[in-house]
Amino acid sequence: MRQLIIVGNWKMHKTVTETLEFLVELKEKLSNTAVEVVVSPPFTALAAAAEVLKGSPIALAAQNMHWKKQGAFTGEISSAMLKELGCKYVILGHSERRQYFSETDDHVNKKVKSALESELIPIVCVGESLEQRETGATEATVEKQINGALAGLSPEQAAGIVIAYEPVWAIGTGKTASDEDAQQVNGYIRKVIACRFGNTVAEAVRIQYGGSVKPANAQGLMAQPDIDGALVGGASLKMHDFVGIIQNVL
Ligand code: PEP
Repeated sequence: MRQLIIVGNWKMHKTVTETLEFLVELKEKLSNTAVEVVVSPPFTALAAAAEVLKGSPIALAAQNMHWKKQGAFTGEISSAMLKELGCKYVILGHSERRQYFSETDDHVNKKVKSALESELIPIVCVGESLEQRETGATEATVEKQINGALAGLSPEQAAGIVIAYEPVWAIGTGKTASDEDAQQVNGYIRKVIACRFGNTVAEAVRIQYGGSVKPANAQGLMAQPDIDGALVGGASLKMHDFVGIIQNVL
């Protein structure tokens, strides 16, 4: 049985003070849940978040990292730095990173390997643009992204990662993939992983859906056999909505 994993990606939102206020309340509300809950504040708030989350089941994720462990890369952060701060996960290859910061599948692959070396669990984001969907290129797009991101991994390494299927046209737009469409792509991703790493790995990997998830649509999406959780953007910034999503899928 794969445990559901709900991750709140805060993007460039919340100061340290706002992070602490939010997490103190979230911790009280979610002291005991069967779903794995993860929050991903900006880099500046990770240390404070780790401190306030000590002893709570809520885990911490970073939103990005560089693949080198150290060096002359002004403005960058390494996997070792994130691990020391208390992160368990790191989100890699988010479509905003691909779109605005020119991240390629090769960059994502290097980051995945570096994260694993530092014992961070990568949450690898994949998903098609509206044009790719409309031209029937959804499966080819996610297959290429998965094969690129996971190149060179052993089956043991692949089994532990998390994948987030996030159709780009659904991120921050209020448009959500239907339960059936999301299930179809998540099922396809599991097949791609089975082809590359075998059935045991494919059955172990958790595959989330992301794209305008909210309390009203979370239950239907999470009930799909190949959807093992959600990567939540906008709704994770509001206590009522984030807690609502978690409670609705229990
Ligand atoms: C995201 O940023 O990963 C995301 C899914 O955003 P939203 O939930 O706002 O669509």
